[in-house]
Amino acid sequence: MKNFFFPFAALFAAAALSSCDNNQGNTGIEGVMTVKLDNAEVTWIRDNAEPRLTERSLFPDASDSLIQSLGLENGIPASMSTFLVRKDGKLLLFDTGLGAENSRLGISLDSLGIDAGDIDFIFLTHLHGDHTGGMLAAGIPRFPKAEVYVSETEYNGWTAMSEKQKISAIGPLEAYGDRLHLFSEGDSLPCGVKQIPAYGHTPGHTVYQTGNLLIVGDIMHGAALQSAHPEICADFDMDKPAAIESRVKILDYARKNSLVMAGMHFPEPAFIFPSGETD
Ligand SMILES: [Zn+2]
Repeated sequence: MKNFFFPFAALFAAAALSSCDNNQGNTGIEGVMTVKLDNAEVTWIRDNAEPRLTERSLFPDASDSLIQSLGLENGIPASMSTFLVRKDGKLLLFDTGLGAENSRLGISLDSLGIDAGDIDFIFLTHLHGDHTGGMLAAGIPRFPKAEVYVSETEYNGWTAMSEKQKISAIGPLEAYGDRLHLFSEGDSLPCGVKQIPAYGHTPGHTVYQTGNLLIVGDIMHGAALQSAHPEICADFDMDKPAAIESRVKILDYARKNSLVMAGMHFPEPAFIFPSGETD
């Protein structure tokens, strides 16, 4: 497949942010970085406490020679990230991390002066535990005011699985009662957030767009490999042909529209900026 997306070096263009007039750059807090975009301000929050690599063995379709040529024999740099968007006077949280004892979402929000009760909306890309685990604290909703949005296709997909899978995926949502909102394709979302179906990783995996920011969820688990080779899936992708189709579609959409991508498993800081490359 044509290596059609950004040159890999562009993945780390974020490192240049501090010298960029238009961006606020680093907040001075470990694993937290705020960037000002067209009509919103987005803060990357790293949830993982320890450095994170996606294991090479999770990409069985990648040849050893390809992995070696990219220098990825020891794993692909990754993160477990969430994103906080300030827009129209509201606080929007995209996914909630793992909710592990050493997860950094809570202390990162604290350091930004944000209380869990300040979060207005939570948008979930999908229902894997590393994205919903932070929704509960001691079994009760951690975000007492937040209205929660998730794709109905995603919700229904998990309810059709085994009882164990269903409970782990749906449990954190049910605790939110009537503050849980299931949306269908084409539905409008609060604060002008646009939903883009990107199924395959999970039944209703969803990408969100606000202005020139594209929050791509788990479209890639090894960006250094998959940005150039979107035909390669991680084992985590439930429906691999659909995941490939979605990955190609989203990467192409981001490139053609010069969008900043924010990915939950991108290497830190978890943004990919447009390279300026044109067709
Ligand atoms: Zn994930």
